Amino acid sequence: MSNLEIKPIKEWGFNFKKPIVISGPCSCETEDQMMETARRLGNQNIDVLRAGIWKPRTRPGMFEGIGKEGLSWLVNAAKEIGKPTTVEVATAQHVEDCLNAGIDILWLGARTTVNPFSVQEVADALKGVDIPVLVKNPINPDLQLWMGAMERLNKVGITRVGAIHRGFSTYEKTKYRNKPMWELPVELKRLVPEIGIIVDPSHICGNRELLAYVSQKALDLDFDGIMLESHRDPDNAWSDAAQQITPEQLGELVANLVVRHSKLDDYEEDKLEALRANIDRIDNYFLELMSERMDIARAIGQFKKDNGITILQTGRWDEIVNDRVKKGAKKELTEEFVKEMFEAIHQESIRNQTRIMNTITAE
Ligand code: PEP
Ligand code: MN
Repeated sequence: MSNLEIKPIKEWGFNFKKPIVISGPCSCETEDQMMETARRLGNQNIDVLRAGIWKPRTRPGMFEGIGKEGLSWLVNAAKEIGKPTTVEVATAQHVEDCLNAGIDILWLGARTTVNPFSVQEVADALKGVDIPVLVKNPINPDLQLWMGAMERLNKVGITRVGAIHRGFSTYEKTKYRNKPMWELPVELKRLVPEIGIIVDPSHICGNRELLAYVSQKALDLDFDGIMLESHRDPDNAWSDAAQQITPEQLGELVANLVVRHSKLDDYEEDKLEALRANIDRIDNYFLELMSERMDIARAIGQFKKDNGITILQTGRWDEIVNDRVKKGAKKELTEEFVKEMFEAIHQESIRNQTRIMNTITAE
C-alpha cells in the first residue's frame, strides 16, 4: 500500500461518470481552430476539453506550442460548450499562467514526471492552491517515479490527484508509439486503489487505427476514462497529426465502446462461480497429473543413472514438442502456448532428474 492521500476522481466536484472522456487538440494552434474543434466536440459526449499550450517536443525546430496567448482561446472555447479545461504544465510560470486564466485541471506530461526537479518546481508553485492535477506516467516504466511525482503534489496539499497512462518509450520498434505495458497502471491501481486512472490511447498508439482497440482495453481493465486527441482537421495538425481524429470520429469511437460493469447481480454471480469452480477442478486435476508425470520422470532419471546415460536427449525432446504442438493445434491451443507449457514441464523434469543424478555424484 502507498502513503498517498488521494481523493477519488468522482469526488472532484465535476460530476464525472465513468468512462470520463477528455478530448481536444494535441496543440492549441489558432483561436479559430480551438473554437471550431470545441464547438464540434460540444455535439459529442465529452467531459473535459484539453489542449496543449506549451509543447515539449523531442527535437527543436518543431511547433513548440502557441504559449500563454492560447489559454484564453481554450477557456473561451470551453465556455461555449460548458466544459472544464485541462492543460499540461511543466514550469512554475506555466502554473501561474494557467491559474490566472482559470484552467480547471492541470496535467504533468511524461517528460516532466520523469524529472523530480521539474515536478518539485510545479509542486512548489501549487502550494496552497486547490486544483486537481493529473500525472502522466514517466516516459520510462518506473512506477516509483510515477508515484513520487504524486507524493510531491501531496506534500504541498494537493489531494485531487489522478494518473494518466500514456505508455512507455522503448528502443525496440513496436506497433505502438509508446508500449502500453498495462501491468504498470494495473499495479498502480493495486497499490493506490482509490486513484482515478485515465488512459491516453492517442500517445500510446501514435496512429488512428489502434485507438478504438486501446480505448476498449482501458475500459475492460476498469480504468476510469480516456484522453483522446481530436482536431478539426487532423491531417493538417501542427503536432501529432497521425494520431488525431475529428470530433465526429471521436464521438463515434466513444459511442461504440462497450461499458462492462465490474459487479454482477446474484444470478450472474452464481453462473460465474460455477464456471470458476470448473476451472478450479481442472487445475487440481492438472496438478495431480503433473505430479504423476514427475514420478515417471524421476523413474526415467533412475533408469538413466543405472545405465550411465545423459539426462538430456535432444532428439526425444524435439519429438515430444512437435507431437504436442500438432495435437494442441487440433484442440485450438496456440503453438506458442503449447511450446511454452512443455518447455516449463521439461525444465521441471530436468530439475527432478538432476537431483537423482546429483545423489550419485555425492556418494
Ligand atoms: C500531450 O498530451 O500532448 C503530450 C505531450 O503527451 P505526453 O506527455 O504523454 O507525451
Ligand atoms: Mn500530443
